[in-house]
Amino acid sequence: MKVLVVNTGSSSIKYQVFDMKDETVLAKGLLDRVGIAGTVLVHEPQGKEKVTIKHDLSDHTSGMQLVLDVLAHPEYGCVSSLEEISAVGHRVVHGGEHFSASVIIDEAVKQVVKDCFDIAPLHNPPNLMGIEACQLLMPNVIHVGVFDTAFHQTMTPENYIYALPYDVYEHYKIRRYGFHGTSHEYVAYRAAEMLGKPYEDCKIITIHLGNGSSMAAIADGRVVDTSMGFTPLEGLVMGTRCGDLDPAIVYYLMDKLALDSRQINDYLNKKSGMLGISGVSSDLRDIIAAAAEGNGKAQLALKIFCNRVKAYIGNYLAKLNGCDCLVFTAGIGENGYDIRESICENMDWLGIKMDVEKNRVRGEEVDFSAPDSRVRLLVIPTNEELMIARDTLRLASAGQR
Ligand code: AMP
Repeated sequence: MKVLVVNTGSSSIKYQVFDMKDETVLAKGLLDRVGIAGTVLVHEPQGKEKVTIKHDLSDHTSGMQLVLDVLAHPEYGCVSSLEEISAVGHRVVHGGEHFSASVIIDEAVKQVVKDCFDIAPLHNPPNLMGIEACQLLMPNVIHVGVFDTAFHQTMTPENYIYALPYDVYEHYKIRRYGFHGTSHEYVAYRAAEMLGKPYEDCKIITIHLGNGSSMAAIADGRVVDTSMGFTPLEGLVMGTRCGDLDPAIVYYLMDKLALDSRQINDYLNKKSGMLGISGVSSDLRDIIAAAAEGNGKAQLALKIFCNRVKAYIGNYLAKLNGCDCLVFTAGIGENGYDIRESICENMDWLGIKMDVEKNRVRGEEVDFSAPDSRVRLLVIPTNEELMIARDTLRLASAGQR
């Protein structure tokens, strides 16, 4: 069975086609600047030359049509006809409290995605546009929704209720949801395989460090806690997001800088984090380079970044009463060995001891724990698309009419 995985942003469509027989990627690509002048599609078919197509497109439906045309193109396509694609998996950021697992998309599911527009205004509207465009163009296949929030739905109220009047939860559904669930789930299952233990018997701390970063504490096959909250702004320090903050700063800054609610949202989401502290860039590679050249603010940003991850490790070790392993993943977690080293140093009292040499790898699965480390230290490259494709295959096989 061949499965198309689609991740639609406000002006982009990312896709991968999997042959689920052996889980190989037949093609992947990114259509960028949809609805903006300069639309460009970069398509990478397996075993063939990369293709770049520049063609302005006004909306996601015409964008999706171009993607499908390219997938079945006689020269650089990856299927001889779209009929070969049996199901489509859609990444959806917010499923609220409604989904604790992936689902076949029907009208009721789409209504829930819509109901969450209010709490995920940047993500859910384009996600739904992608679903509707795909359904229009591929009406005869099963479409599956895979939600970033679903994996974290096992959290219990003491970890997801904020210390606000309880009725804001009841009336506005203000609570902690958590994100990056597909990535945390993928690496957690793989970690259990590497530990050689049933997943349900493992205590795992997953550390997803990318442009957006989050952590999860997992035990008994459930997420106990995760660092992102009502929105992906809470928790760790990120490329441009501040993470945890004294909430009093928000209204203080609104006063001082004369910002309205939209502007303060932008300030905390787009101008803060590593970019805000360093003044250099949101990209960790640039910050590492600037720090190496002696830039004091870049050095400070790196310290704050690692410090926050350490603090969450401590938090989660306390909540889980110890753990079997820490798992590092995503762009920084997989590649930034110096960052992993800074995070893991001076934690031997907690049973965390690394092998510095084994840690010096980028983008590879590795166990870099020292032989006497009580906690195993793992790097596991994440693969959210494969996770979406697996869920899609499972549901499509079960729901085939
Ligand atoms: P992601 O959002 O998972 O694609 O991760 C993007 C982040 O990974 C960016 O901040 C990159 O700077 C970072 N990254 C990629 N390669 C490296 C590397 N070799 N060392 C440190 N950070 C890296």
